[in-house]
Amino acid sequence: MYDINKVRADFPILSRTVYGKPLVYLDNAATTQKPREVVDAIVNEYYSVNANVHRGVHFLSQQATDLHEEAREKVRSFINAKSTNEIIFTRGTTEGLNLVCSSFTEEFMEPGDEVIVSVMEHHSNIVPWQLQAAKKGIAIRVIPMNDKGELLLDEYKKLFTEKTKIVSVTQVSNVLGTINPVKEMIRIAHQHGVPVMVDGAQSTPHFKVDMQDMDCDFFAFSGHKMYGPTGVGVLYGKESWLDKLPPYQGGGEMIESVSFEKTVFEKLPFKFEAGTPDYVATNGLAKAIDYITRLGMDNIAAHESELTKYCMQEMQKIDGMRIFGQSAYKDAVVSFLVGDIHHLDMGTLLDRLGIAVRTGHHCAQPLMISLGIQGTVRASFGLYNTKEEIDVLIAGIKRVSKMF
Ligand code: PMP
Repeated sequence: MYDINKVRADFPILSRTVYGKPLVYLDNAATTQKPREVVDAIVNEYYSVNANVHRGVHFLSQQATDLHEEAREKVRSFINAKSTNEIIFTRGTTEGLNLVCSSFTEEFMEPGDEVIVSVMEHHSNIVPWQLQAAKKGIAIRVIPMNDKGELLLDEYKKLFTEKTKIVSVTQVSNVLGTINPVKEMIRIAHQHGVPVMVDGAQSTPHFKVDMQDMDCDFFAFSGHKMYGPTGVGVLYGKESWLDKLPPYQGGGEMIESVSFEKTVFEKLPFKFEAGTPDYVATNGLAKAIDYITRLGMDNIAAHESELTKYCMQEMQKIDGMRIFGQSAYKDAVVSFLVGDIHHLDMGTLLDRLGIAVRTGHHCAQPLMISLGIQGTVRASFGLYNTKEEIDVLIAGIKRVSKMF
């Protein structure tokens, strides 16, 4: 385990107040706060290194390129990919999902072909497929879940047909916190010869992910949800798949040669990285990976699991409490409603007590429809949260509940 007080001191924002109250930041599934060393790396790079990467012969450009490419190697090692050719820098999970959805559909799907997603997907793993459905006539099949918020694997198995071309599922639900058995789901899909894309936005910040062990074909995640900067993310893809996919965007960086007659694309990973990358953010992401690796992903997972269990246990004692997502395989997210108090009222009143939670549909409206609700209040934990903060949350919920 790590020293939580020391850890908190690494995050300057955690010591600020809101409305004169100490900030209790429980909106980590939306974005995480940044440790000083990540922000320092960004500032230092702008102050003393900044130059565009890859094309320059001059000193600064080479130094910036080294930082950028070292970040790629750091990401490779962090997720245990085989090669840096499999690490594509993106703007975030959303862009990674869109990239695969667009390029894969273009190359490998015909009208009537099917993609399997789950009922608990974020909009970023639904809407891109719907755009392709409208353009190309593909169909979306949906894995249902049980009352605990666990995907029904028997139903999943039944969804495969000869038209199934890809599965795209989240590893962890950003609403229910359910950790889906993606390794098993990938094994099943591969038995049908179908590749799998995994949305890792809510898993990478919380526990160790291993591309070779999981054996997924594509995996997307965001830097800002794992203590890194905004505007940078990663798409992992098996080299054999990435080689076969057409580019997503055209422009500089992604070409080897261009004439008006013919363009030859760059090799991986650059084929998918058109334009100037956010090379300062990739360096910031590398520093975030250093930070969480130093703390230890297993330590982070154990700390957050303790917080989640404690929060669930204390919340269940509150009259009228409904918690959405009761799986034993649950991550650092607790979504709830109390009696008939509107989620927005609960969130707004908690905010006045200094407690930052998220309210609404959490970009998962189809899941809300299946739960028969409009939204929830969501508390989500990070490596720096404490039991004392959960006590403040519980006291806050009780206080708001009394007011109604
Ligand atoms: N998938 C999941 C499960 C998420 O929680 C989120 C962010 N809420 C996303 C995808 C999208 O991530 P981003 O906005 O960083 O692209």
